[in-house]
Amino acid sequence: QRAWILANPPAGAIQKDTFELVTRDLPEVKDGEILVQVESLSNDPAQRGWIQKDQDPERAYSPPVQKGDIVRATAIGKVLKSRSDKWKEGQRVVGSWGWTDYAVAPASAVQFAAIDLPGKPTASLSVLGMVAVTAYHGLFDVLDIKPEHTLIVSGAAGAVGSIVVQIAKNVVGAKVVGIAGGKDKVEWVKSLGADDCIDYKEEGWAAKLKAALPKEGADRVFENVGGNVLNEIFKVTRRFGKIAQCGMIAGYHGADQNLSNISEIVKNRLVIQGFIVIDIGARWPVAVKELAGWVTEGKIKLDDAETLVPSKVEDIPQVWQRLFVGQNRGKLITQLV
Ligand code: NDP
Repeated sequence: QRAWILANPPAGAIQKDTFELVTRDLPEVKDGEILVQVESLSNDPAQRGWIQKDQDPERAYSPPVQKGDIVRATAIGKVLKSRSDKWKEGQRVVGSWGWTDYAVAPASAVQFAAIDLPGKPTASLSVLGMVAVTAYHGLFDVLDIKPEHTLIVSGAAGAVGSIVVQIAKNVVGAKVVGIAGGKDKVEWVKSLGADDCIDYKEEGWAAKLKAALPKEGADRVFENVGGNVLNEIFKVTRRFGKIAQCGMIAGYHGADQNLSNISEIVKNRLVIQGFIVIDIGARWPVAVKELAGWVTEGKIKLDDAETLVPSKVEDIPQVWQRLFVGQNRGKLITQLV
């Protein structure tokens, strides 16, 4: 087994010695266990939170990764050996297999069997995966999105954001204004159905965002970024409008969050609700079923939904770090070769 362990939990930027590649003997597969060969790894901004130094575990929504542990990551793997009745050899399964090439785990560690959509064997990590359920839960349960709403989506070209755009436009029929970094991403978000998309890396972008909205501002916001993007969004969210705070990637490495416009919350009676996808609970499979229907109907596009990066085990940390410099469109997936 070759695996990346957390060598030094980071407080700020990722350093050369944050992770360490180790080679170990795999434990024997005991009764009730399976041996999995990891094929495709999900890259998630949340992993940065799980490895943060000096966390208060009482305040974390999932247990922090401990120094010396394999870095936690959701992945699709193939069952190579099974000593369980639940999973057969050759089956592909989703679980928290981590930054490793092989894993031995109890059969109960499997979250679900991978869904093999034609031409999209990694759909369980993208259009039918956690990020898509996040989009679903945030839009319907947190924002109660309606056709008459104008919605801002930040991080609109990312894994969660690109699905939010498509559900809000192609399923609900709301007016959708995306925010993304760079011309290519802006064009792509529009091709997914957004009425407009603003490049936050361009000078004067905040004025363009305001111009793209009705005079009174946006009714709803699906916010993935935090920092300066959120700070400008405060000023264009309408009175009594609602912001679903899904993530704050701009600050995950400890960068300054600059929320100088936060008094807008009081002045304009804004509602901000943070949420975590696990709050959807037992309705997770219901969401996946509905998402699968929208994929079949072409309301959520399969083409282009993922940035697949064929990589060796050695490259796993570098590929993950692409998230924080915007080097992905849709879901960033590491395909182990
Ligand atoms: P993405 O696919 O959106 O990848 C990250 C993107 O964020 C980048 O491509 C980049 O897009 C943008 N970005 C990175 N750094 C910055 C920065 N400093 N300022 C502005 N934008 C930046 O990742 P996900 O879709 O997986 O996640 C999106 C957000 O949703 C994250 O904040 C994540 O933590 C959160 N999340 C929350 C969940 C929950 O349950 N609450 C579940 C899943 C995700 P660009 O090039 O456009 O800048």
